[in-house]
Amino acid sequence: MHDIELYRYLLGLEKPWAVESVKLDLKNQRVEVWATHAEGLQWPCPACGAMMPVYDHAPERAWRHLDSCQFMTFLHARPPRVNCTEHGVLQVRLPWAEANARFTALFERLAIDVLRESDVLGATRILRISWDEAWHILERAVARGLMAKGERVCSQIGVDEKSVGKGHRYVTLVCDLSGSTVEYIGDDRKKESLDRYFQGLSQEQREGIEAIAMDMWDPYLASIREHVPQAEEKIVFDRYHLMTHMGKAVDTVRKREHGVLKKGGDETLTGSKYLWLYAQENLPEKYHELFNTLKAKDLKTARAWAIKENLRELWGSRLIEWARLHFRRWYFWATHSRLEPVIKVARMFRKYLENIMTYFIHPITNAVSEGINSKIQRISNMAYGYRNREHLKIAIYFHCGGLQLYPVTH
Ligand SMILES: [Zn+2]
Repeated sequence: MHDIELYRYLLGLEKPWAVESVKLDLKNQRVEVWATHAEGLQWPCPACGAMMPVYDHAPERAWRHLDSCQFMTFLHARPPRVNCTEHGVLQVRLPWAEANARFTALFERLAIDVLRESDVLGATRILRISWDEAWHILERAVARGLMAKGERVCSQIGVDEKSVGKGHRYVTLVCDLSGSTVEYIGDDRKKESLDRYFQGLSQEQREGIEAIAMDMWDPYLASIREHVPQAEEKIVFDRYHLMTHMGKAVDTVRKREHGVLKKGGDETLTGSKYLWLYAQENLPEKYHELFNTLKAKDLKTARAWAIKENLRELWGSRLIEWARLHFRRWYFWATHSRLEPVIKVARMFRKYLENIMTYFIHPITNAVSEGINSKIQRISNMAYGYRNREHLKIAIYFHCGGLQLYPVTH
């Protein structure tokens, strides 16, 4: 096969485009391919599609294409321009690349695949492109994906905060719980941080939200109440967040008790911190004996732990009435425990009880966004080159947004 014909195949060029010539540059390990088009044709205006003859040609440009073996391959062409009576002089659409791209669409597809599996720096080495070029491909892919997404309704969302980077700066994350995707990333964890998400939604999208999993965080609550119709029936305080609050109370009780015991030379609680934080069924085998001994002692910490474990069972209730009954009993126990940190948490839970009970109407949790959280952690660790928070956001959309990232070819 003649090399001109070969490259027409490799580049997927179709009429009216054809390969004019091919040059192999051994010294620089490059293949240069020139494409040209047949003359006397009508071309569509890129804005309105009206057919018209060539007005002139833009200067020659080059697009990086998939390598030919280890040779970097570049496609060269002079894009035709049309002069539309309505839209003026415009360059026609080229079948191998998006407007203004410096790579062919097939190369961008490959680059996107590589970027999904490695960080930007790794991609620059594999693809032999610069950091800025790799980043630019990633950024374009996200912009393309966000554009293509349209006004999809997310019926179940999770709202969560996440601290990123140094100095405990927060972002607000909204996840689609059914698709396990990040829908929105906002700066900070204020009311406005979440307001901006809702402001970007249509009325239909806001009405389409059926349930929201979240922690008890007043700024988010205020934003949801303002923007989501019938919010009170839809807000579900996430069981894992609730258990985290309870776990912290147990830990505070332990710290205080340990302090008192130690003063009297009693080391009973030394090194026991994590034992009390496990869910009972998750406690590793090797600690069972030690933990049973500790539990049998008359410790405040053991009481706090038992109250915590009893709370966990709430979510196993089959009916909302049973859950209410369970909570009433638990609340009585907790508030009579004479353990101040436990009482504090119990009172907070009662204040927010109605939206703890909504779980039994919408059994959702933030577990999905927790999974996304650890993915985000990995992204910000490999972020090396993510020079600022805007970059991190784009990288999160790229890896966690569930977006259609590829350029459309032909
Ligand atoms: Zn036009």
